Amino acid sequence: MTTTTNKKDYDVIVVGGGAAGLGVSIALSHAGIEDFIVLERHVVGASFALWPAETRFITPSFPTNSTGMLDLNSIAIGVSPAYSLEVEHPTGPEYALHLQGVASYFQLPIQENTEVKRVTKIGDEFVVDTTDDTLRAKHVIWAAGEFQYPRLNGFDGIELCRHTATIASYQKLEGDDFLIVGGYESGVDAAYHLSKRGKRVRVFDKDCPWKEESSDPSIALSTYSVERMRKQWFKDNVELYPNTPIRSVVKLDDLYEVTTHDGKKFQSPVPPLMAGGFDGSHKLVADLFEKRDDGFPLLSEDDESTIVPGMFLCGPTVRHQNHVFCFIYKFRQRFAVVAKTIATSLGLPAEELEKYRMWGMYLDDLSCCGEECVC
Ligand SMILES: Cc1cc2nc3c(=O)[nH]c(=O)nc-3n(C[C@H](O)[C@H](O)[C@H](O)COP(=O)(O)OP(=O)(O)OC[C@H]3O[C@@H](n4cnc5c(N)ncnc54)[C@H](O)[C@@H]3O)c2cc1C
Repeated sequence: MTTTTNKKDYDVIVVGGGAAGLGVSIALSHAGIEDFIVLERHVVGASFALWPAETRFITPSFPTNSTGMLDLNSIAIGVSPAYSLEVEHPTGPEYALHLQGVASYFQLPIQENTEVKRVTKIGDEFVVDTTDDTLRAKHVIWAAGEFQYPRLNGFDGIELCRHTATIASYQKLEGDDFLIVGGYESGVDAAYHLSKRGKRVRVFDKDCPWKEESSDPSIALSTYSVERMRKQWFKDNVELYPNTPIRSVVKLDDLYEVTTHDGKKFQSPVPPLMAGGFDGSHKLVADLFEKRDDGFPLLSEDDESTIVPGMFLCGPTVRHQNHVFCFIYKFRQRFAVVAKTIATSLGLPAEELEKYRMWGMYLDDLSCCGEECVC
């Protein structure tokens, strides 16, 4: 899949060959932009390929494209993982295969095994330093995701925990008694698979995601997870501790001890599992964006940096007001916005992108996520 080229200058460099990087690249092509490249540190879909083997998509895939409704897990008009994979809730490796198929179908120019180390803007140009080269571009789209940048801070002793992003399979995890920090989707997923094997599981969360009164799945648990929590083995083996922030983890001889903020102590011989989210790759380019109060990059209406023109963000870390674009069906709405902005700055008409509006991939407004919206 790797494109080999000696070219060093591009109109656009896209960093990351995941769902966001590929999706926005297809939108660039539809906007008539040809002079771009996707730089991927591993291979296309690498993050999905690294998911725990048993973990499945919570958002269902259904082949609805023919009736004008894009499959929830689709990254482009005309493709559907439901259709290509014939499963409703793909595993990570299955979805990685789907992305690889999409990349070859659209003949995207992708350079794999190329890690971006640094992006700087010098004059009107971006200088992109990779593991073994220096490239230049008029625009950069940062789409390097979150999964490969797990959160490893937040309380003392967190380094003793094992992040769920590093678990290859719950089937193969040794031990009978698990403490899980974080009870949102990944924490419930881990608890589900471990309890199914008859393991004792205790899940701690600083809030109460299991009773969240919101219709936004970026805040409340998905129905897929809620259904799983109703399984008898989950009820029998999992204890939930809501509103229980963790203060520290220590190792005492053969035991790991988790202490909560209110001083309660819980012990297990197995390293606690950390399901507390991700720092995100945007930290690598933090100097190119203003920061919001919540730490996420501040973006213009076109998802461009407010301080470095030509620098764009794409993917699950996009935030506008209080709207979180963490699922594929959410952040794909921004692909056409970014592509149109870049095409316009290159003097291209980008008429082809109008059809994105019809497919619910919005071009120039955030009305789908207004205050009244329950999208
Ligand atoms: C367990 C789990 C379950 C999920 N379930 C769902 C779901 O059901 N539905 C849904 O919509 N979303 C789900 N998500 C979220 C979804 O996976 C992410 O939002 C999505 O992967 C983000 O896509 P991305 O392209 O931004 O990031 P990624 O898929 O992580 O892609 C980023 C790519 O960039 C590459 N990269 C990273 N750093 C560099 C660098 N410095 N230089 C070059 N390349 C780099 C990586 O190798 C990777 O291929 C889930 C996430 C997790 C962890």
